[in-house]
Amino acid sequence: MRTSKWMFTAALLVSVSAAAQQTADNQSSAQPNAAPAPSVQTSAPSAGSQGATAGAAPAPTPSALPQPTTMDQVVDRFIEREHGLMKALATRTPVVETYLQNLTADPQLGPVPSEDHYFLGRLDMGETVDRKDYLKDQDKGMQTRLMGGFNKLFKVEYQPIGFSWMVYADRTDFDRSHYEFHYIRREFLGDVRCLVFDVTPKKGSGRGRFLGRVWVEDQDFNIVRLNGTYYPAPRNSYFFHMDSWRLNLIPGYWVPAYIYSEEGDFSAGVKNKIAFKAQTRIWGYDLKKEGKDDELTQIRVDSVKDESATTQDASPLQAEREWQQQAEDNVIERLTRAGLLAPEGDVDHILQTVVNNLEVTNNIDLPRPVRTRVLLTAPLETFSVGNTIVISRGLIDVLPDEASLAAVLAHELAHIVLGHNLGSKYAFNDRMLFSDDSTYNNLGFKHIPEEETAADKKAVDMLKNSPYAQKLDNVGLFLKALQARAPQLNALLTTHLGNPLGEGGTITRLSALATQGPALDNAKLDQVAALPLGGRVKINPWDDKAEMVKTAPVAITSARDKMPFEVTPFYPRLARYGTTNAPGAAPTTAAANSNSGN
Ligand SMILES: [Zn+2]
Repeated sequence: MRTSKWMFTAALLVSVSAAAQQTADNQSSAQPNAAPAPSVQTSAPSAGSQGATAGAAPAPTPSALPQPTTMDQVVDRFIEREHGLMKALATRTPVVETYLQNLTADPQLGPVPSEDHYFLGRLDMGETVDRKDYLKDQDKGMQTRLMGGFNKLFKVEYQPIGFSWMVYADRTDFDRSHYEFHYIRREFLGDVRCLVFDVTPKKGSGRGRFLGRVWVEDQDFNIVRLNGTYYPAPRNSYFFHMDSWRLNLIPGYWVPAYIYSEEGDFSAGVKNKIAFKAQTRIWGYDLKKEGKDDELTQIRVDSVKDESATTQDASPLQAEREWQQQAEDNVIERLTRAGLLAPEGDVDHILQTVVNNLEVTNNIDLPRPVRTRVLLTAPLETFSVGNTIVISRGLIDVLPDEASLAAVLAHELAHIVLGHNLGSKYAFNDRMLFSDDSTYNNLGFKHIPEEETAADKKAVDMLKNSPYAQKLDNVGLFLKALQARAPQLNALLTTHLGNPLGEGGTITRLSALATQGPALDNAKLDQVAALPLGGRVKINPWDDKAEMVKTAPVAITSARDKMPFEVTPFYPRLARYGTTNAPGAAPTTAAANSNSGN
C-alpha cells in the first residue's frame, strides 16, 4: 500500500521560479546547422535499425531500397514515402484535440487570450470522406485532398477541421506534376539530420495546394516537419498557417503528432481581423477502431484466482467495497479504451508520491490504496472514481510547483476520505456499452455543491498538516493567476467529467487558499504563478503513455515570457525510433525554449 514516509518529488516538479534564475545554456540544436552540401549521403541504409518490431507497425519499411544519389531522387523518395505513410495509417482513427485562444493586445503582456475554443474528436485517416453537399464540386475535391475523412465525435465548438489539414501536405496529388521542389539546405531538428525543401504548387494546379517547406530525414527520407499554408484559397475564406511535426514512433514511419497554427498581426496600424494561436495534438493511433467485430475472437480466459484472505462470504461492507472496486475498474478501463486516459505510467508515480505525502502526514489509512491516472486532454480538470484520482494533462502542465499539485489532488483525496463515491452505478456492465464518441454523455463524476464544499474544507485541513503547509502561498498565487484569466478561458475551464474549478468566470475551487500569498504581479519576473500549456506532460501519440517532459530551464526576461495558461508553438526534440530520446520526443514549448530563436 502506501509507504510510511513522505518525500518531495523535487527533481521532477521543479519550482519554476527557481528555474527562472538560471540562464539558458542548453539551447536547442534545431538552429539551422547548415552545411550547404548538395550531395546526399550515399552510405547503405542500416537495415539493422529497422529490424526492431513494434507490434503495431502497420506496414513494411523501405530499408532495402538503394540510397538516392541526387536531389531529384531524394524528392522522388520522399514523395513515395509520403504516400506510403498515408497507406500505413489509412486504417487508423486517432484522437485529435485542438485548443485555440483568440488574442488581443495587452500593452504589458503582448498578445493575450481574449477567448478560447476547444475541440476533441476522432480523425479517420482512411480514404472514406464524408463530403459536405453545400460545397462546390471543385471545393469538394479540395476538401478530400486536405482532410480526408473526418468524423465528428465528442464535441464541436469551432471549425476544427482546418486544424488537422496539415497532417499531410496533399492527400491526393503530392507529386511532380502538381508541385515544384527546391532543395534549400541541411539542418538538424533535434538529433535528426534533415534535408530542407521548399514546395510550391505549379500554376493551374487548383485551389488549396500546399505552399511551404518540408524537412526530410536523411535515412529513409520521410517528411518529419511541414510548415506553411495552402494556396490559393476559395472565395470568402482563407487558410491558416501551420507548423506540423511528426515523431518516429514506429519503425520506418514518422507519425503526425503536433500542429501549431497562428494568425494575427499586432504591429501599429494593422487592422487585424483575426488573431489566434492553436495547438492540435494527435494521439491514440493504436486505439481499436470502433465497430469492428473482433471482440469475440479475443475472449481471454482469466486465470487469476481470487486471492482474498478468507474463504468466507463478503460482509455487507465488504460487498459494498467490492462493488465500488468493480465500478472503478470498469470506468478506468472504458476511458482508457476511448483514448481519454493514459495507461498507468511514470507520471502516476509522481502523483502517487504526492498523494502518499498527504496521506502519511494526515494518518489516512484507506482499505484500498489510492491510485492516480492522467486524463489525456487539455481542459483543467480533476475527478475521482472509487479510489482512483484522475487529473488532466492540461492541469498538470500549468501548475507551477508540487504544492499546487498537492492542492488539486488533496481535493479529490478528500472526496475519497469522506466517502463521496459517485461511481457505483458503473458496476453494471451495460453502462459501459456505449460508443467512444458518447463517452461524455455516459460518464460523469460531478458532485453536489455540499460535497464540493466539504471536500475543499477537508483538503485545506490536510494540506495544513502536510509537507506542503509552508508553501500554500504558491497555491494562493496559482489560484489568483487562474482567476485573472478565468473570464477569457471558458473552454479551458469547461470540464467534461468532473466538477469545474470555477463557473461563470469565477474560480471556486479551494477558495479558502485564494487569498494566501502575495498579490499577483506581472512585472515581478521571479513570480511565476502559472505555466503555459504543454510544459510538463508529453504523450506518446502511438500508445498514449504519458511522461514528464525534461526541459532545460530558460530565463524569463520580461512579463511576456510568463504566458500563464497560454498555448505556444511546438518544438519537439526529434529522435529516431529506438534511440534514447525516442519515442515521443519532448514537445518542448517555445516558452521553455524562448531563446532558441526559432
Ligand atoms: Zn470535487
